Amino acid sequence: MNQSVTESQGYIWNPLAETMPRAELTALQTQRLRQQVTRAYERVPFYRQALEQRGVHPEDIRALDDIERLPFTVKDDFRTTYPYGLFAVPLKEVVRLHASSGTTGKPVVSGYTRADMAMWGEVMARTFAAGGVTADDIFQNFYGYGLFTGGLGAHIGAELIGATVVPISGGLTRRQVQLMEDFGVTAIGGTPSYTLVVAETAAGEGVDLRSRMKVRVGFFGAEPWTEGMRREIEERFGLEAFDIYGLTEVIGPGVAAECSQHQGLHINEDHFYPEVIDPESGKRLPDGEAGELVFTCLTREALPLLRYRTRDRVALLHDACPCGRTSVRMQRVRGRTDDMLIVRGVNIFPTQIEQVLLSHPGLTSNYQILVDRQRDQLDELEVQVEMDEALHDKGGEVIGALQASVTEDLRQALGLQAHVLIAEPYHLPRSEGKVKRVVDRRQLAG
Ligand SMILES: [Zn+2]
Repeated sequence: MNQSVTESQGYIWNPLAETMPRAELTALQTQRLRQQVTRAYERVPFYRQALEQRGVHPEDIRALDDIERLPFTVKDDFRTTYPYGLFAVPLKEVVRLHASSGTTGKPVVSGYTRADMAMWGEVMARTFAAGGVTADDIFQNFYGYGLFTGGLGAHIGAELIGATVVPISGGLTRRQVQLMEDFGVTAIGGTPSYTLVVAETAAGEGVDLRSRMKVRVGFFGAEPWTEGMRREIEERFGLEAFDIYGLTEVIGPGVAAECSQHQGLHINEDHFYPEVIDPESGKRLPDGEAGELVFTCLTREALPLLRYRTRDRVALLHDACPCGRTSVRMQRVRGRTDDMLIVRGVNIFPTQIEQVLLSHPGLTSNYQILVDRQRDQLDELEVQVEMDEALHDKGGEVIGALQASVTEDLRQALGLQAHVLIAEPYHLPRSEGKVKRVVDRRQLAG
């Protein structure tokens, strides 16, 4: 494949696909949609039944807009058809299974044929190329290896590019720091929260990442994160951070990723067709309006998902991007509706709280949100956040004033009163993968 270098260090992995004129892309998407609906209808009884219930036959799908006639797929459909009910191929054609770690109920199971694996490698190679990764890079992969799609998804893309992959996974944090230096690592990837654990461990050992490491680029995702966390990661490592997006149901990482403009994430829409709908009515929203993101997998063989409701709230951006890619971009995800808390009737995303905390110097991105309810009482919201060493040295009076100011800012941002607890450095738990931000004790009290 030919690699044309654009501005910054990023380049376009597959110019034919990624800069395709809109009319050609629409024609390709239409043809793939028609094929995929036919496959789903012929091979997945779940979809045949859903289409028949709506009185839709695959031949009714002639143009892209006809997609609105198709039924939605929701997370619960994975549970009712668990484990293989949505697969469109016999298991002997499935070469890989991944599953999301459901905290309640059965996990979401995703199967991949050889062709699905090749497509996954391709979209992840596009992701890394956008950040300038080439065969000359050494990529240390903090994403967890296993059923979680993060580790092996990032692995296959970096390997396809020809980068030297260090498959260390999450954990062994002191060794991460040592190997990063010894191996001359130039690119990293992982959850943003664990990446900061690595940075903190390095700092604890007196290792200055900026001067001792060669890391210049990082790819972070699998949990919502703010611009504040991006700045912290960039400053600590001296790297350029790229937001990447994906979900197990659709493929894993590789659904969308930032280019070096960092103005939204380019969706690989030749494989994953996006729509934004009103979550209440299910109607498609006009371009630029925020709503629930929905994906149809246009090329997946094992799992031909139709109109999968992600529960992520974003708007799509169709204006031209200076990088030259013609694909639509999605805004950064503020939070999944699953992560949304309802406290005293108010909707709260953890990232809203993170934004307030990180606007105060002296506070870190190590925070936790506790919600509790005593019998017949109102919900109580408590935010625990660690201070950094510098603030700790300033002592009680400064910390007290900061606490009052954070409480007020949270009241402004959320519209309700939270108890703010500024904790000692290294007081809160650390995670090796996706961080647990919310402890909801109301559910335990049941
Ligand atoms: Zn771009």
